[in-house]
Amino acid sequence: MTRIVIVEDEIDIASVVQDYLRHAGYETEHFADGQSALDSIVASPPDLTLLDIMLPRLDGIEVLRRARSYTPHPIIMLTARIEEVDRLLGLELGADDYVCKPFSPRELVARVRAVLRRTAPGLSQSPTPPGDAPGLLLDDVHWRASLQGTPLNLTRREFGLLQVLSRHPGRIFSRARLLELAYDDTVDVTERAIDSHVKNLRRKLGAVTPEHDWIRSVYGVGFAWEAPAPG
Ligand code: CA
Repeated sequence: MTRIVIVEDEIDIASVVQDYLRHAGYETEHFADGQSALDSIVASPPDLTLLDIMLPRLDGIEVLRRARSYTPHPIIMLTARIEEVDRLLGLELGADDYVCKPFSPRELVARVRAVLRRTAPGLSQSPTPPGDAPGLLLDDVHWRASLQGTPLNLTRREFGLLQVLSRHPGRIFSRARLLELAYDDTVDVTERAIDSHVKNLRRKLGAVTPEHDWIRSVYGVGFAWEAPAPG
């Protein structure tokens, strides 16, 4: 059974989350402070951890940082403010997703499922580098891409964005981080310009697969690549 650790000092939130996850078929374990959660995670890593940031004894960022040196299991951060996500992204501690409060428990369960699917051992350890998304082919030398056999006719900027986003499915990138990673010369590019490049990229991908939106906008933060659910 898939075991999920919930680290949350607000008991009301924790119990609602627990109810929903159990209902969805997961086994849950709850900790109300960071230190006891960390002790348990280190002793016996769960399949996934939901980790609040503001916690007594040891805060969530510290728990994440220390847990990461013991176990690569997926961790979703629960944050009270969108600005915290920006800070977390800057710290690059390797959380697998971020959910902002207040969240709907239903949405949280969906995110848990998505992260578990993405990080399933069979997927992450499969020997299929460079890991282009299904149906997506990137030619890094000529900056060309095709989706399901259809050439995408991307500009160099759009190609750079596609490269970074699609090769890190689910990871949320801030505009500043995209600017750093996807653009080799940043002289004439503003963070605002990224929005319009993303918009164009979305339109070109959407022309091939209108049923799926590959790029998720994370309000106030940035963008993430969303592979379609299998099947
Ligand atoms: Ca808290």
